[in-house]
Amino acid sequence: MRRLLGNLLVTGLLLCAPAWAWAGLVQVEPATLGQGQPALVRACLGKEVKSARAVFLGQDAPLIRGADGCFLGVVAADLLAKPGAGKLVVIADDKPSASARVEVALRNYGERRITVAAKFMSLTPQQLSRHKKELRAQRQVYGRVTPQRFWRDGFIKPVPGTVTGPFGRRSVVNGKPRSPHGGVDFRGAKGTPVAASGGGRVALVQDSFFGGKVVLIDHGQGIVSGYRHLDVIKVKNGQMVAKGQEIGQIGMTGRVTGPHLHFDVHIGGARVDPLAWINLSQVLARRLAGR
Ligand SMILES: [Zn+2]
Repeated sequence: MRRLLGNLLVTGLLLCAPAWAWAGLVQVEPATLGQGQPALVRACLGKEVKSARAVFLGQDAPLIRGADGCFLGVVAADLLAKPGAGKLVVIADDKPSASARVEVALRNYGERRITVAAKFMSLTPQQLSRHKKELRAQRQVYGRVTPQRFWRDGFIKPVPGTVTGPFGRRSVVNGKPRSPHGGVDFRGAKGTPVAASGGGRVALVQDSFFGGKVVLIDHGQGIVSGYRHLDVIKVKNGQMVAKGQEIGQIGMTGRVTGPHLHFDVHIGGARVDPLAWINLSQVLARRLAGR
């Protein structure tokens, strides 16, 4: 009885203690991550800690102190991340200080089979080398982890249109499997304004073979958004943009069959479901602000 009372007393004290008083506590929500899905990280490390980051699947995620004193950030599993048990480690002031088990789960986003004219299937050596160069420049930005946070409130859809091409769907073109869809396609007429999904810095403006006119925005904290097939681009490389600011207009530049916006989000270099990130960003923004 005495022991039970003692346990209850300890539990009661822990429940009453402010969260930041528990040194080395880390929570990941959700703890099981589907491929292509983001998760919140909350690490309560103590008042004296100056900087913190989470390391998950070999990627760094900067953590920022929220209104309740704990550090917050976001990690993600790439669309093709290997399923299985993983470990998230929190580094506080350059020292590993807490860890959590995070499971990556297989996620089926569906498949479609299409047939296209053979001439669209192969690239000339010139087209291929151009594409590789453009891809390298894009990957360099998508893999960037800027420690500052350029965004404040939750992210928004860049256009009002309905989704015509869902995230993650695999295409089998003329019987050959292609890489899954790394973003969402929104329906929209040519000339429809495209808004920055969140505040950030324009990190790449490119006229590419596949993506046509492309804008990539670095939002900081490892979050980068991309906008493709634009008709016109209204921003310049290095420019700061506000959430909702017009960055261009819907078009059909690049390898497309009709006007639409391809919108994608990368977190720590991982391809993430943009609509899942839009939802999660509202929660993260609220918690950072203590609302
Ligand atoms: Zn697309």
